[in-house]
Amino acid sequence: MKTIPIILCLIFLRTLGIAQVKADFPLVDYHVHLKGDFTYEKAVEHSKKTGIKYGIAVNCGMGFPTQNDSAALAWLDSMKGSPFMLAMQAEGREWVKMFSPAVIAKFDYVFTDAMTYTDANGKRVRLWIKEEVSVPDKQKFMDDLVNRIGKILSTEPVNIYVNPTFLPECIAHEYDKLWTRERMLKVIEFAVKNHVAIEINNRYRIPSERFIVLAKKHGAKFAFGTNNTDSNMGDLDYCLLMKKKVGLTASDMFAPKKKLK
Ligand SMILES: [Zn+2]
Repeated sequence: MKTIPIILCLIFLRTLGIAQVKADFPLVDYHVHLKGDFTYEKAVEHSKKTGIKYGIAVNCGMGFPTQNDSAALAWLDSMKGSPFMLAMQAEGREWVKMFSPAVIAKFDYVFTDAMTYTDANGKRVRLWIKEEVSVPDKQKFMDDLVNRIGKILSTEPVNIYVNPTFLPECIAHEYDKLWTRERMLKVIEFAVKNHVAIEINNRYRIPSERFIVLAKKHGAKFAFGTNNTDSNMGDLDYCLLMKKKVGLTASDMFAPKKKLK
């Protein structure tokens, strides 16, 4: 019977913790999707309850419902008057040719990841789908991945690199070994040089603390993001843990050019 007061106490402490963070730190989740059972109404309610501001993103690109300017504009229109920032999640590498710069600019910010690409044999690969990935040579895979990230960050007009440093399941357990200091530095340098912020992803709990420390040292900016698939939003626990451990302050964080709502 004592569990309920303890749970209430823990919820209170968590809320208090978030309130304290908010006092000198912009608490924003830049990577939220209205997916599964997470409706617009639930997002409004959840954001109010937690005090975390949301950037709601629509997936734009090949294989997604939003594939052209008119669909992107229709989505923006459907979100008019919302309390959220509105983001384009640019998918695959084809997206740059599928949307006009004028329409891209209507979003508060744009982000992408390096999880979708066409390999040397012309096969389209999505790194999170086990069946599509094969890694015969881990070192070559990593070098190709780093080069691909570099190309994306220097040629695609994005503000945040999300799901950063993600590795496919077959090699994910070797994350710390494969993400060598040299490889991390290359990615960080591309991000800094091209003014692209690096997401701290709550769902995958990436990048590692080691990466974030190095990135901060080299002047990278960060953005918290959940990348939810349903209403199981969590509470940015990994992001806040990294903020505390690495000592991130408001000046380390990404801010969209347009004012926060
Ligand atoms: Zn996403």
